[in-house]
Amino acid sequence: MPPIIDRKGMLLIISGPSGAGKGTLIQMLTKDNPEYCFSCSVTTRAPRPGEIDGVHYHFITDEEYADLLRKDAFLEHARVHDHYYGTLRQPVDEALADGKIMILDIDCQGALNVMQNTTDYVSVFILPESFSALENRLKNRGTETTDSLVIRLANARAEVGKAGKYQYNIINYHGRQDEAVGALKAIVEAEKQRINRYHVTIQED
Ligand code: 5GP
Repeated sequence: MPPIIDRKGMLLIISGPSGAGKGTLIQMLTKDNPEYCFSCSVTTRAPRPGEIDGVHYHFITDEEYADLLRKDAFLEHARVHDHYYGTLRQPVDEALADGKIMILDIDCQGALNVMQNTTDYVSVFILPESFSALENRLKNRGTETTDSLVIRLANARAEVGKAGKYQYNIINYHGRQDEAVGALKAIVEAEKQRINRYHVTIQED
């Protein structure tokens, strides 16, 4: 008889400054793997070209955001780079109950909040190799206005200063994304085998 395996879900918090390459790493990690779920946050910022409502974010108004706050619908929420962002509690709870690896791509304020209020999580901070590499990546991405770029670069210093509060740090070297994804996969694989998430019963035969 095969072993009886009882797996619990995993809350995987991933943070890093804007331009560190989190989004691409998450896409590479989760591609064609149904074990993963991605928490689609709500935000009051405007969609960028190519961003789809309900896929990248739920794009909402300030009034809708205030309404969700009143209803206590958020696991965490924060004002980031001059806009509001929040993680909806219900989809996270459902995914974890279903044994999934639920990824939260959230900023440091939100991440520290979740870490304070939750006991079982895995937290990873993605670092750029330098601040100039971060600036180049953000400029080349071409998604930000000059104002938004200035805010994001200024906030990056403070965010990187919080990297030590996470369980794991990974440097995403320019042109070496495979290495960063490899490190991320190794962390997830090891964390999956932790006995609080992985209970095995071996049968007699
Ligand atoms: P962007 O506007 O570039 O998509 O995201 C800006 C920052 O907001 C990123 O650091 C991203 O991780 C963070 N973020 C996205 N969704 C959430 C959320 O639901 N909560 C928090 N606290 N931060 C978020």
